[in-house]
Amino acid sequence: MEIALKYKHIFFDLDGTLWDIHRNAELTLKSMWVQFECEPTKWDSFYEAYLHHNHRVWAMYRQGTMTKEELRTARFSRSMDDAGVQYSSELLEQFAQAFVDQCPRQPHLIPGALEILNYLNDKGYVMHIITNGFKEIQGIKMDGSGLAPFFVHNINSEDVGVRKPDPKIFHHAFDRAGTHAQESIMIGDDWEADILGARNIGMDQVFLKLDQQRHNVHPTFTIENLIELKNIL
Ligand SMILES: [Mg+2]
Repeated sequence: MEIALKYKHIFFDLDGTLWDIHRNAELTLKSMWVQFECEPTKWDSFYEAYLHHNHRVWAMYRQGTMTKEELRTARFSRSMDDAGVQYSSELLEQFAQAFVDQCPRQPHLIPGALEILNYLNDKGYVMHIITNGFKEIQGIKMDGSGLAPFFVHNINSEDVGVRKPDPKIFHHAFDRAGTHAQESIMIGDDWEADILGARNIGMDQVFLKLDQQRHNVHPTFTIENLIELKNIL
């Protein structure tokens, strides 16, 4: 007898859930630091500032208080300012462009990503991506890291005109996939965009909790590594 699966469609976040954006960005910036002949002694303070500012500017972008063009350079200018690095506007533009050219070509995935995608694929789930990342680079990341073949639809916030956690992006995703919230589940590492976003439209959620964040509502499931999905799906 075939066991009926509760969920048919799985929606994955990309950055930080499957594609290891932190590791890939750090490796890219480290090599750019050499390429752009920045002062080696200022690397540590630059990178620490980058982690802080990058997080903040993406939150502003999600909320619509910063444009994509501003974000591209602000994450680096603010970090260089904090680290006491001198730069011209021309260098800043080249640095920002080099990052979007080079970073998506890094292949590193979150541990267990390919194993769990093969497992879920074999079980017959239909899988899709919902991402707030820049459209022109998300495809490069997926092709270069071997993720692309697992996904039927790639929903990008730039195509929809709104970003997670806006309900419209999830409804757009359901329309594209031909499904609805009750037979779908969202898997992501971002509390607000992925978990609250899915929760607000009545879709179950798996929170990939990679740090010690505490929240006052409970997601449907919480995991600390991707392989734990085998206990749920
Ligand atoms: Mg993410």
